[in-house]
Amino acid sequence: MPRIAVLGLSHEANTFSSRLVDNAVFEAEGVLRGPEIPARHAGGTSTVSGFLAAGERLGIELVPLVMSTMVPSGVITADALKTRADELVDALSTHGPFDAVLASLHGAAVSEEILDVDGYLLGRFRDVVGPAVPIGVSLDLHANISAAMCQYSDVLNTYRTNPHVDAHDVAEEVAEIIVRTVRGEVRPTQAHVPIPAAINILCQNTDESPMRDLLADARALMATPGVLSATVAEGYPYADVPEMGMSVVVVTNNDPAAAQQHARHLANRVWSHRARFDVAAPSPDAAIAEAQAAAHTPTLLLDVGDNIGGGSPGDSVVLLNAARATGYPELLTIVADAAAASACHTAGRGATIELSIGGKTDPRTGPPARAHGEVLALHHGTFQVHGPVHAGMSHVRAGPSAAVRLDSGQTVIVTTEAVMPLGIDQLTTLGLAPEQFGAIVAKGVHSPLAGYGPYVAGIVRVDTPGITAASLDGFTYHHRPRPMFPFEPETTYSP
Ligand SMILES: [Zn+2]
Repeated sequence: MPRIAVLGLSHEANTFSSRLVDNAVFEAEGVLRGPEIPARHAGGTSTVSGFLAAGERLGIELVPLVMSTMVPSGVITADALKTRADELVDALSTHGPFDAVLASLHGAAVSEEILDVDGYLLGRFRDVVGPAVPIGVSLDLHANISAAMCQYSDVLNTYRTNPHVDAHDVAEEVAEIIVRTVRGEVRPTQAHVPIPAAINILCQNTDESPMRDLLADARALMATPGVLSATVAEGYPYADVPEMGMSVVVVTNNDPAAAQQHARHLANRVWSHRARFDVAAPSPDAAIAEAQAAAHTPTLLLDVGDNIGGGSPGDSVVLLNAARATGYPELLTIVADAAAASACHTAGRGATIELSIGGKTDPRTGPPARAHGEVLALHHGTFQVHGPVHAGMSHVRAGPSAAVRLDSGQTVIVTTEAVMPLGIDQLTTLGLAPEQFGAIVAKGVHSPLAGYGPYVAGIVRVDTPGITAASLDGFTYHHRPRPMFPFEPETTYSP
C-alpha cells in the first residue's frame, strides 16, 4: 500500500498590510500536527478533507504531518517562516520515506525575506524526497503561481470556484492523479503559462462572466484525451511580487508539448477577455441608498475595501458611518474590535454602554464610530458554520463577541478576532436572524455568497476604501510584472 505524506501551510499575504504574521499568530490560529489534522478535517470540505477522502477511497495510507491554515493578513516574519518550514521539512524527513507528497498551500504566501514562499516550501520538500517522488499541490484560485511552484511539483492545481466551494473536490482530483502516478498508470507533465493581467476582484466571481467562461474552457480541456488537469488561476493582486497575476496550468499524461500547447491556447483565451477584467462599483452613500430603496430585504452590502479574506483588518466602519449619516437604521455590520468586545462583556447583557467602534487600523477606514447602545447578546465566538462554506473553513474562532443595538438604530456585532463572513451562524449565535435587517454588511467580495447567499434578497458590491480596494490605482508596486494589464493598458502579449 502506498504511503503518502500530507502537509501544508496556507496563507494569503497582503503585502500592503502592516499586520505581520509571527510565530504567536501561527500558534494562536492553530498549527495542527499528526492526528489533530484528521480530527479537524476528516469529513469536511477543505483541501485536506479532499486529500483524506481520496486516501480512504483509493486504499492508500495517508500520513498527516503538519498543517496550518491562516486567516489572510500581512506577510510572514522571517523567523516564523523558518520555524514553520523547518517543522514541515523535519516531519517529512523523520516520518519518511514516502511514495508521494500531497501539499495544501495557498499560492500567495510571502515572508519578510521570500516573495514566493510557496515555491520555496515546495523546493524544500523536493530536497527531502528527491526527484523521483511525486509531489501534488492543491492551491487557492488566488494563487500567484510561480515557475518554481511548477518546477518542484508534479501536479499543481487550484480551486476552480470563487466563492471557493470545490476545495475538497480539486484536492481529491490532485490526490487521485498522484496515486495513479505512484502506481505507474500515468506520468504527469505540466505546463505553466503566466499572463500579464490582473483581474479586478469585482470580476472574479466564477458564476459570472468572464471567469465562468474561462473556467468552463478549463473544464472542457480536462475532458480532452491525455489531459489530466487544467486551471485558470485568478491571481492575487494585493501582493507586490514578481508572480502577481493570472496564469494557466495544464497537466497532461507524459506529453510536455501537448501541455504547453493547451496551456498557451487557454492563456490566449484569457487574454482575449481582458477588456472584461474591470468594472466600477457604487460609493458607500449610493449603496446605502440602494439598500434603503430595495423592495425585498435584506441586501448584502459587500465591503470590498475591508475584505477579510483578502487580508484586510475587518474593522472598517465606513458603511456604518454612511448609514448613520443618512439616518438609515436597519443596517447590521460585523466589526473586529477586541476592545469594544471586551467592554461589552464587562458591561454585560442588557447594559447600555458608550463605545468607540472600529476604524482604528487604517485612517482610510475610520474614523471610529462613537456611539451609545445596548448590549443585546454575548457569545464566546467559537462555532461551526453550517451549510456550504468557502474553502471548507467551517471552524470559526472569533473570540469573545457581542451584539449591540446603537441608539441610532443600527446593529453592530463586535468580535475579538477578524473572521471571514462565512455564514449566518455569526448572527444566530448572538440571537440575530438575517430577516430582521434591511442591509447586512459582509467584509468580503465573493466568499460571503457561499454562506449568506440563500438568506439575502440582493447583493451590492461597494467601492469602499482599504488595503483590498477594488481599484488597484492607489497601490504602489515595486515587484509586479511590467508591463501588465490594466496598469499599462497598451500591454501586448503572446503566450
Ligand atoms: Zn482565494
